[in-house]
Amino acid sequence: MTSPVWHPFTQHGLNEPIPHVVRAEGATLHLADGSSLIDGISSWWVTTHGHCHPRIAAAIARQAGQLDQLIFAGYTHEPAEAVARGLVDLMPQVPGRDRLAHVFFSDSGSTAVEVALKMALGYWHNRALDGLDEARSRILVLEHSYHGDTIGAMSIGERGVYNAAWTPLLFDVGTIPFPHPDREQEALAALAAACAQQPAAFIVEPLILGAGGMLTYPPHMLRAMADICARHDVLFIADEVMTGWGRTGTLFACEQAGVAPDIMAVAKGITGGAIPLAATLATPRIFEAHRSTDRARLFYHSSSYTANAIACAAAAENLAIWREEDVRGRIDALVRGIADRLASLAGHPAFANPRQLGTIMAIDLLAADAGYLSDLAPRLRAFFLERGLLLRPLGNTIYLMPPYCIDAQQLDSVFAALVAAGDRFGM
Ligand code: PMP
Repeated sequence: MTSPVWHPFTQHGLNEPIPHVVRAEGATLHLADGSSLIDGISSWWVTTHGHCHPRIAAAIARQAGQLDQLIFAGYTHEPAEAVARGLVDLMPQVPGRDRLAHVFFSDSGSTAVEVALKMALGYWHNRALDGLDEARSRILVLEHSYHGDTIGAMSIGERGVYNAAWTPLLFDVGTIPFPHPDREQEALAALAAACAQQPAAFIVEPLILGAGGMLTYPPHMLRAMADICARHDVLFIADEVMTGWGRTGTLFACEQAGVAPDIMAVAKGITGGAIPLAATLATPRIFEAHRSTDRARLFYHSSSYTANAIACAAAAENLAIWREEDVRGRIDALVRGIADRLASLAGHPAFANPRQLGTIMAIDLLAADAGYLSDLAPRLRAFFLERGLLLRPLGNTIYLMPPYCIDAQQLDSVFAALVAAGDRFGM
């Protein structure tokens, strides 16, 4: 079933079938025509525990009948307090580094990143007002990064035809080369040189760049980059929007590198994926720099849905699920399940660069005409759809990021479809 009215504004619907989904549970999407799909990418990396988790659905229903939405400027409510306390307890801790102890709620990953940038610039602005530092505004970013689709988030992300129309509005950034294994020292030297120019902050997707092609880099590089920033007093911002909530095998990717950022953005799986919520966490020095009786120094970002009570109730339930259920056990089993099957796929001549980071797996398909904007990705998407699978390749990179509840049989069908894609499209 298609919805032609929406075609012009969907970036991925042109001339392709658009399945009409009516119901979902676990890793399964049910379509209007009675068929079903396995959700191989957690509906854009979001639904960690699977669709319509009964505990989260019940928490949403309870909260919707009690307190739905409250202006959060000057008011508060228990679901938000519970989530803020819970988040702070879960943040990566490193001896000698300040903790992420303060939480600002918003409603999407892009906004959480915007808030992170605003906090970083506000920090330096307020220190300049106090005569402690020069104002700083330059942001350093890692090559091939993606941080969202608002103007600020696009400015710090990879530039391409997909955001060319807005180039005049995007601000200038300092781009650090991606630390490919044979370019690690080059990347570190470039970062050190850029940090010496006193930028405001360096923002990274820790350990894996998602939309940029599921490119992984090792924990020692994340650690080395964070250390360089600390040495130069450049704020280190971790965008854990994709990597958070167990995706990389640990709750947050920064844990694997022993890194405690100055600012961190989280979203997607914060509610288990059922409803939008995001948070930006900051250390006390960033919070204190904004706390003042002088209204010129306050942090201004007040969107209507900040800390929406229903979304916070879902997030509080997600945190309870993490505390009370064996989510880590489920993740470990999934990590092993993917690793076993990836080994068989890795021998296929149509594939190269198999990689896995926790529950995220990616592999490159060696196909003719495999550029990011070629027809390959939509053709692959349609090919997988015909086999009952929701996947959304990035150029010639096919990746998997399933809900943690996907079962062995479903994983087998996913990998059978991947092999079939290699046979069909590989060179
Ligand atoms: N940062 C990263 C690393 C992401 O992967 C994404 C979303 N894919 C975002 C930010 C933006 O999040 P949202 O789509 O919720 O705005």
